[in-house]
Amino acid sequence: MRCLLIVDMQNDFMSSGTLPVPEGDQIISLINQLMPKFSLIVATQDWHPLNHVSFAKNHPKKKAGDIIQIKGKKQTLWPVHCVQGTKGAELVLELNKQPIAALFKKGVDTDVDSYSAFFDNAKVRSTGLHQYLMSRKIKEIYVAGVATEYCVFFSILDGLDLGYKVHLIIDGCRGIYPKDVKQAVETMNKKGAKILFSQAINFNGDLF
Ligand SMILES: [Zn+2]
Repeated sequence: MRCLLIVDMQNDFMSSGTLPVPEGDQIISLINQLMPKFSLIVATQDWHPLNHVSFAKNHPKKKAGDIIQIKGKKQTLWPVHCVQGTKGAELVLELNKQPIAALFKKGVDTDVDSYSAFFDNAKVRSTGLHQYLMSRKIKEIYVAGVATEYCVFFSILDGLDLGYKVHLIIDGCRGIYPKDVKQAVETMNKKGAKILFSQAINFNGDLF
């Protein structure tokens, strides 16, 4: 069984949001068009408390883009984004919600960030996505969303580590910095992810 994993298609990551991913809005209709091809669709939401460690404003004299050390790990600081229960954290209006079977929230703990759809960055808290996919006998994951070199990237690496066959739908993702996106795609490919364009997805619903 195959699953479409939609990563962080939330208002704050779109052009009107606080942490816009360039061209993020442009992949909404493509993702909607992909949905009928999958019998299982899940999505993630970045879902932070207001005092979250990744927000630059929670660190004196720091600004977005700065990198700090938290418990020996690098943490990039961001503008306030995807605060739990706010409009910015909602899935984008134009995204077709009806086919989405389950939502997985990440970044919910104050003191640790979570880029991956599976685990937080400290690999302590699981979002429950792996258990959910296992219970539905999913072996292959197709990933679309934002941002390619952050949440998509770490979701794909964790997916590969967990033994899934993972596909990056390259035209169904957008990233922040082109140079970093290129490097991230190369790394994902090297680690075993299959990189494909949406038009190459030519199955419909259930397989076999
Ligand atoms: Zn975040």
